[in-house]
Amino acid sequence: MHILRAPWRMDYINSSNNDTQEQSCIFCVYPKEQNDAENLVLSRGEHVFAMLNRYPYSTGHVLIIPYRHTPLLESLTNEEKLEFMSITQIAIDVTKRTMKPDGFNLGINLGKVAGAGIDSHLHLHIVPRWNGDINFMSVTAEAKVLPEALSVTWEKMIASWPKNN
Ligand SMILES: [Zn+2]
Repeated sequence: MHILRAPWRMDYINSSNNDTQEQSCIFCVYPKEQNDAENLVLSRGEHVFAMLNRYPYSTGHVLIIPYRHTPLLESLTNEEKLEFMSITQIAIDVTKRTMKPDGFNLGINLGKVAGAGIDSHLHLHIVPRWNGDINFMSVTAEAKVLPEALSVTWEKMIASWPKNN
């Protein structure tokens, strides 16, 4: 993966508590890069960030992710928990204003067996739903219906995202 050639990689290589998992983990890599349009990063908080899922179940599929490389929901600190939920609230508000969905599915897959694509780094899925869209289970079974390009969704959401966050 070409992202491994990013200059900050030297920090990892030179770091004594070097973790190879974190070097190749997109949820660790993306928020450190200054390439938000390509990486689909929407917002950076102090402990948590938000990005669009590159392999969405529906248009506007957002991921809420703590910076810390952990698979353990139960390990989140109070500060992380608070921001995890407040960025989730903002993402839902922005999605409502920009895409007017009829509902949402929110979910965290803990472990590969539960369907986690990246099981080493905790993330919450926010999947907007519209009346008449296809069944959620058939969506997750790869029958993707995406009426809008990711870059268009990203532009729209960035424009509506509160600027102080
Ligand atoms: Zn990670």
